[in-house]
Amino acid sequence: MASVLRQEKLLGQSPASTQEWATGEACMLIVFIGPPGSGKGTQAKRLLSYLGIPHLSTGDLLRAAKHDDTSLGRLAAQYIDHGRLVPDPLVLAMVGEKLNEPQFAKGCLFDGFPRTIQQAKSLDESLNQRKQPLTMALELKADENELVARMLKRAAAEKRADDTPETLTQRMDIYRKQTAPLLDYYRGQGKLISLDGMGTPDEVFARIRAAVDQKKV
Ligand code: ADP
Repeated sequence: MASVLRQEKLLGQSPASTQEWATGEACMLIVFIGPPGSGKGTQAKRLLSYLGIPHLSTGDLLRAAKHDDTSLGRLAAQYIDHGRLVPDPLVLAMVGEKLNEPQFAKGCLFDGFPRTIQQAKSLDESLNQRKQPLTMALELKADENELVARMLKRAAAEKRADDTPETLTQRMDIYRKQTAPLLDYYRGQGKLISLDGMGTPDEVFARIRAAVDQKKV
């Protein structure tokens, strides 16, 4: 694992991956951004089935690695369980490997990734190499007090180890400090679409669908 941690440019290096990504084909590559508890998971499921593209959730991948007790999982657990971000090189290695799978040739929904500017830049480099630039970054905007209340409810229902009041505050703080700058990054590229994440799941999804329909044409 130490060798993985030393690598820097980890996405998009495999020649095989370049072949698998068909150039010129209609392809939806969406980064989904939203604070913890914003309903991003629920909306991601609906968006995936609407667009028929695969899901690439770094949170899910990291939890699976943790569950399977792989060396990546054991290392990642030390960060996840304290509400901290897993180091970029680890996450980039994991995403790079995943993106090489042929199912991702027709696009995907990035969920929980990128979380830092370094991750965003690395993703851009990789997608540009594959001549498949990002279609858009979708932001779900939500009220922070409402979010904490929602997450504590989810913690009770799902019993996730990282949903304690302390880690929730920590994750919200990290979101504000590290992930919110991503919004500026994508705004600068003219790719950011910010949507109101409050309301019923149907109301929120209607806004998301309208945003992606504009790009499908
Ligand atoms: P959330 O409910 O905060 O959206 P996720 O399921 O996306 O949670 O992520 C859970 C945890 O996994 C994060 O708190 C973090 O420790 C780790 N994680 C997930 N994605 C990333 C990433 N792109 N970079 C670093 N750490 C990540």
